Amino acid sequence: MSEHFLIIGGGAVGLTSAQALLEAGYRVTLVERGDTGQEASWAGGGIMSPLCSWDYPESVTRLTQQSMGMFEAACAKLFASTGINPEYQRSGMLLLPPFQTEAAVQWCAAHQVALQSVVLGDYLPGMTGGGLLMPQVGQVRNPRLLRALRRQVEMFGGIILEHNEAQGFDIEAGRITALQTSNGTLVADNYIVAAGAWSRTLLGEYAQGLDVRPIRGQILLFKFDVPPFLNILLQESLYFIPRIDGHVLVGSTLEDAGFDKSTTDEARGDLLQRVYALFPEWQDRLPVRHWAGLRPGTKDNIPTIGRHPHLTNLYANCGHFRYGVTMSLACAELLLNDIEGRPQPFPVDDYRWRV
Ligand SMILES: Cc1cc2nc3c(=O)[nH]c(=O)nc-3n(C[C@H](O)[C@H](O)[C@H](O)COP(=O)(O)OP(=O)(O)OC[C@H]3O[C@@H](n4cnc5c(N)ncnc54)[C@H](O)[C@@H]3O)c2cc1C
Repeated sequence: MSEHFLIIGGGAVGLTSAQALLEAGYRVTLVERGDTGQEASWAGGGIMSPLCSWDYPESVTRLTQQSMGMFEAACAKLFASTGINPEYQRSGMLLLPPFQTEAAVQWCAAHQVALQSVVLGDYLPGMTGGGLLMPQVGQVRNPRLLRALRRQVEMFGGIILEHNEAQGFDIEAGRITALQTSNGTLVADNYIVAAGAWSRTLLGEYAQGLDVRPIRGQILLFKFDVPPFLNILLQESLYFIPRIDGHVLVGSTLEDAGFDKSTTDEARGDLLQRVYALFPEWQDRLPVRHWAGLRPGTKDNIPTIGRHPHLTNLYANCGHFRYGVTMSLACAELLLNDIEGRPQPFPVDDYRWRV
């Protein structure tokens, strides 16, 4: 019988890890405290790229580039096999001034990423001046991606146990022998922590070296009859993500508020002020929804992927901070390679679980 993996956490990272393991022939049980795909992975914008890639280290770029190259085909496959469309679209990302032209040009040239200088009025009627367009940047619709992944995992024979909170590990001779959950004891050959912002808390004394903390992000949702523009727009830290049905997500905040997932009037006011400054014609328009999620924050956005420094059958895939949906496919691939002792596609030292 094939080895059995128990994955803790049913966000994008847990579900893509489950999918990769099942495709490789392993048995998988996924344990989720609530319903799958309702935390950070649901709350995120679904931009398939860092905002300004040139602001991040190469170890982030390697993961995002690898994953971005896989997403379009993976979404088409998911749609065909599950009937749920994650709505991947290569909408492109348009940078509005002010931006760091030199850094953007150099980074894109060095990484073979397309970048075009454009006249803003050609994309946003009434706007003057120039912008930078990254035409290859894509987006997904997070809730749909998550539903498709969940269905795919079950179609592949994975078992998903929802409303089941992992509460602690039984350890013997440097190995986990069982997971204690709110619904009883679960036993597997190997255990993977993919619990997002909660990973460090869950691991407790075994979190050695893992520095993951919640960083809240808030988003406003607008609705138009038809999309007011077609590209993702980015102005400094403010972004707009147009969906094909006329919804536009506007985000986001970066807040250290512990595990508090509330939305705040202050964030709403700040975001609205910036939206109306850019699009005065939206003044009479109010958001139809406002939500918050807790990113698994880590230094430099670098996740931890791989085996625990001491416990031989414990693995992590967590701490993806701002880009966990984008990185998820590549991280699942790296995790599988680590488990199977296969060569990695690029240097992975920065992601190792170190004490
Ligand atoms: C506002 C906002 C905007 C974002 N925009 C983007 C973007 O445009 N592009 C991008 O790539 N990323 C974006 N992100 C980041 C991205 O959403 C995260 O990096 C990613 O979702 C992390 O995935 P995850 O599966 O690790 O975490 P989560 O999706 O949070 O999943 C973790 C799961 O573990 C479960 N869990 C926790 N503890 C336990 C336990 N003890 N037992 C059982 N289950 C447990 C939780 O219930 C949860 O379902 C954004 C995030 C936010 C908040």
